[in-house]
Formats: sequence, C-alpha cells, structure tokens
Amino acid sequence: MFKKILIANRGEIACRVIRTAKSMGIATIAVYSDADANALHVREADEAVRIGTPPSADSYLNIAAIVAAAKQTGAEAVHPGYGFLSENAAFAEALDAVGIVFIGPPVKAIADMGDKITAKKIAEAAGVSTVPGHPDAIADAETAVTIAQKIGYPVMIKAAAGGGGKGMRIAANDADIRDGFRSATHEAQAAFGDGRVFLEKYIEQPRHIEIQVIADAHGTVLYLGERECSIQRRHQKVIEEAPSPFLDEKTRAAMGAQAVALAKSARYRSAGTVEFIVDRKRRFYFLEMNTRLQVEHPVTELVTGFDLVELMIRIAAGEKLNFAQKDVRLTGSAIEARVYAEDPRRNFLPSIGRVTRYIPPTGKNIRVDTGVSEGAEISIYYDPMIAKLVTYGDTRNAAIGKMAEALDSFVINGVSHNIGFLAAVIARDSFRSGDITTDFIAQQFPDGFKGEPLPPEQGAQAIAVAAAAQRILAESDARIAGVTLPDRWVIVQDGSRYPAKISRRNETIIVAGYTASQEVTTSWLPGQSLFHGSIDGVPTVFQIERHGIGWRLTRGASIVDLKVLPPLAADALGRMPAKAKPDLSRQLFSPMPGLLVSMAVTQGQDVKAGEELAVIEAMKMENVLRAERDGTIKQLFAKAGDSLAVDQIILEYL
Ligand code: ADP
Repeated sequence: MFKKILIANRGEIACRVIRTAKSMGIATIAVYSDADANALHVREADEAVRIGTPPSADSYLNIAAIVAAAKQTGAEAVHPGYGFLSENAAFAEALDAVGIVFIGPPVKAIADMGDKITAKKIAEAAGVSTVPGHPDAIADAETAVTIAQKIGYPVMIKAAAGGGGKGMRIAANDADIRDGFRSATHEAQAAFGDGRVFLEKYIEQPRHIEIQVIADAHGTVLYLGERECSIQRRHQKVIEEAPSPFLDEKTRAAMGAQAVALAKSARYRSAGTVEFIVDRKRRFYFLEMNTRLQVEHPVTELVTGFDLVELMIRIAAGEKLNFAQKDVRLTGSAIEARVYAEDPRRNFLPSIGRVTRYIPPTGKNIRVDTGVSEGAEISIYYDPMIAKLVTYGDTRNAAIGKMAEALDSFVINGVSHNIGFLAAVIARDSFRSGDITTDFIAQQFPDGFKGEPLPPEQGAQAIAVAAAAQRILAESDARIAGVTLPDRWVIVQDGSRYPAKISRRNETIIVAGYTASQEVTTSWLPGQSLFHGSIDGVPTVFQIERHGIGWRLTRGASIVDLKVLPPLAADALGRMPAKAKPDLSRQLFSPMPGLLVSMAVTQGQDVKAGEELAVIEAMKMENVLRAERDGTIKQLFAKAGDSLAVDQIILEYL
C-alpha cells in the first residue's frame, strides 16, 4: 500500500479523500493556491504545497506545478478528486511519465469517455442502449437542420467535449437548431477549446439515473447500484439519492449489466459512473460516462457500506476487489443535498464573502462533507459549494425526514445560501412521492424561489419561540440593570398585533394569548443561532437572530419577522409613519462582485422589461442582468472589462 499520496484538489473533496487516506494510515499532501492558504484541506493534510495564484489555470489546473509538488514531497500516488484535472488524460499521462500512480482510470479510458461522441460509439458497440441520434460532429447549421429533421424534434444539441451542462441546447424546430448550433458551438469552443457538437433525441420528462461501477486491474468489474439525480437546475444536480424510487430490480440489473459491459469494453479501472436517462416507461439510454469519483458518491457509500475512496486507492495500488456482485446489497435510503453559496431569492446569484458563523447539523444518520469552516472565505475563483449534506434512513421517508431536520439546524451566516430552497424542494408532495423528473424544479418553481409562508401549524410555534426569546433576553437585561420585568407584551407580526402575557414557572416560560397558552422549555441563550426547545412537550427548532428591535426566525423554506414589545412601545411603533424608502428603481447595481463581461445597451437607448442589460462573470458563471422595467438609459457608469464591487452602480435610467 502507498505510504504517501497527494490530493490534487481543494474544498470538500480534498478533505473527503484526506479522511479516508488517514484511516488507511497513508500520509497526505495537500496543494493550494494563494486563495486557499488557510483552507480546511490545507490544515487537515500532513503536508501542503503552494502551487500558484488563485485563478484555477495557475494552480489547480497547473499540471506542471502539481507534478512537481508530488515529486518534491515523495508522493507515490495522486488522487484528483472531481473537477479540475480529474478527467484530464494529459495529467494522468504526466504522472505516468514520472512513475507516480494516478488514482483513477487508465489514460485511454479517460480520453475515450471524455469525448461524448467516442463514448457513444464505444457504448453502442458494447450493446449499451444509447439515445437515438447522430453521434458524429456536425459541420454546419444547415447539416444540423437536416439531421434534426431525420431524428425528429425535439432534439438536443450537445458538445462532444461537454461537461457541467455547457454547450447544451434543446431545439424544437429548425430555427432553434440554427440558433442553438451557433451558440452551443461558441460556448463549447470557449469552455473546452473544442467546438464540436452533435445531435440526439431530446427525451421528454426523463429521470437521470446513473450506475456506479468499480473495476480493478485484474478484470473484475462490478456495479454498486444506482443514484437518482433528477432534481437539477439548468442541467446541474441539486439533490441526489440512492436507491432510485423508480427502479425495479429488473431495470436495475439491466442497467447494471450494461454499465459493466461498457466499463469492460473501455478497459476501465477504478470508480466510474455510467449516466443514463430513463423515460416514463423505464426505457433507459446511455448519456455519458464520468471517469472519476462523483460529487454524489456519498449516497452510494451509505446504502452499500463501501468507502469508494478506499476502493479507488486499493485498486490503484494493484489490489483485487475482495467481494463479488452478489455481496453488493442496497440497504436503506440516502439523500444528498448540495448546499451552495448563492441567493435563491435573487435568481440563484452566486454569493461570496466570509462565512461568519458555520454550525453544521450533527447526529446519527447525518453526514456533512465540507471544505469550509467558520471564518472561511467563499471566493469568486472556485465552485461555490459550501457543503454536501447527506442523510440516511431505513426508508426513503425516514431519510427525507432526517434531511428536513438537518436542513433546519444547519446554520450558515455571512454568505447567502440555498438551504431554504432545498427545504422547499424536499417538502413538495411530488418529491415525497418520488414522482420526479429533470424538469421538477422548472415545473415546481416556475417563477423562481421567493421563500414560502410558514405552514399554519408552525405559526403559533414561531410566536411562542419569539416570546420566550424575548423573555429570556429581558430576564438577562433585568439581572444586569436591576429593572422589573413586564409581564404584558404585544407581539407584532406584519402589522397584526397579539397581546400576550409572558411569564415563567421554574424552567417553563408560559406564553398566554387571548384564547390559548403555550408552554416553552429551552436552554437557549441570547446570541445563539439555534433555538432548540419544546413547546407543549413537542420538540421544536428554529434558527433565530435579532433583527432590528425584533426577531427573525427561519425554518424550512420560511422566514418570519416578529417583534415582542411592551404595550407602550408597540403603541409608539403603530404611530410611527412608515419609513420612506429611497427610490433605487432607477439604477442598476451589481448584485455581486465580478467582472463586467459585456454591456448590451448604450446611453439614450430604450429598453423593454426582460431585455439584457449587461453580463457579469463571477464564480466561473455568466450572469445576465435584465431590465426589470421599460425605460430609457440615461447614463452608463461601467464598461466591459471593469471589475465591479457588490452594489456598485452600473447604469441609470431617465
Ligand atoms: P454534462 O456532461 O454537461 O453534465 P450530460 O450529458 O451529463 O451533460 O447531461 C446533463 C443533463 O442534461 C442530464 O442529467 C439530463 O437532465 C439532461 N440531458 C442530457 N441529454 C439529454 C437528452 N438527450 N434528453 C433529455 N435530457 C437530456
């Protein structure tokens, strides 16, 4: 077995690989860019080597620097994680050349499967069922139209070098093809330096179900069940689970057999994933093979009991798999939710900044894979994922219940995050019943995500929590200042007022309204972000923070603002004129720090609501800013190429 390995990655996956390596008694070397000098993966590794400046091209994609780091530290092998160089054949080759083992597949398998056209051809030859289409690069838009007509609309235009949903377009007619061919080619050329695109049938309302395969260097190839990854936004996975609620044994075995056949004919070794889309009739079609560890591998680990990183390391060291297909059993159910630094309430704009408070949920059946700790900086340079939250249960319902609970007590302050959105997704009836397709998010949230009202049964709980919090705060003030506590209060929510009597009996705070009273017990103290307690004997948790003179409570997909005031203060508040808000509707501000890539308008131009105004690039993603209303541009304050700070003015309307 190796004594020392280098992890050519950052963030949660670097930490994840380090954890298993440590448990196997293998020393670890981290690499880092200047942006990550204090990152968790650097602190957790035994040694760390600086490999360059923050942009990925100078550091985590810098093959020469990483190979040099491996040589210099005496690493015997390199684990690439996912993303960055994990599917880069030249990287695996460069390591081979200096006698360092690449913990992954052979160079040729990476290269073959990395090209969607080649992969599709190998799959077809291996008897794998592929999406009907035309697996050859297409020369021009008119040829594309002819082929699309032959396949039959709708079709999908895809980049041969594609990944991350880039260079992909759905086309419903000839005009879409002409448009899409041009833009997909352009996008693929920019993203991958390879503009080749091909066409395949667009399968409507499909599910995304993928098979985990594992192959050793001695000819054994097995599959470790499937993961369903149908909950996607813009073709990117958001929530994944294992097993799929849709597959029966027969389909699972058929998909498994095809995945194994493909891995065998690609002469595969290591962990890999064969992705399929599955239609309503459980007909399945090969999409692509990912020649690396997947982001969502933990759900497979939880239901099979295997440690995939350990298997990869053992296989790279030449060991044989010591189990057979019949030993692979799926037990229980696991779900993973990707927690991102983004603002779902503002069209999922990426959010960056310092994580000022970070309290991940803990407990049985909860796993959090993260590369972030309190004080960490989410920067514009890398993927904005904060953590993967994974829960397990004997049944799918139990795993979902655990996920809801874990999301409720996951505290992240300092950057915006999508926890409320994830809670909203898993609360939907169709998610609960397993009735999901890749269109789920678009269908369930057609107008985006604006937060959701607190379910009615939780409204009274929120009032009880705010009242108890106020009482506890007032008690601590009273102890310090020696004042007496009022027992009559007014609870104000959205302009409604509820008189209440708040009192204490030993450990219990009693919140008495007109008709009912609630009894709260808690060990919460002012300043804590999580209010754990019980209300009339029922355990409850809310996230809580001081918000002006009131409280902001968060739970699931809901945020509630409540004030608990002495009657005189409540009266005074009622008489105050509503604060005049400055009129900001005439300006466009940058919603995030980033690079102004292009400006679509000029001074004096008339624009219609929805029209593109400018494009900002941040976190490797392009964000189109659109006009929120009709108007005329009075003045531009920024130009293409400018770096913008958050809230920096970009333009003004007349
Ligand atoms: P990438 O490598 O860019 O991630 P994939 O080929 O893996 O691209 O596809 C990503 C997602 O796009 C799939 O999970 C699925 O939701 C959708 N998709 C891809 N091909 C098709 C198709 N032919 N029909 C319908 N949906 C598709």
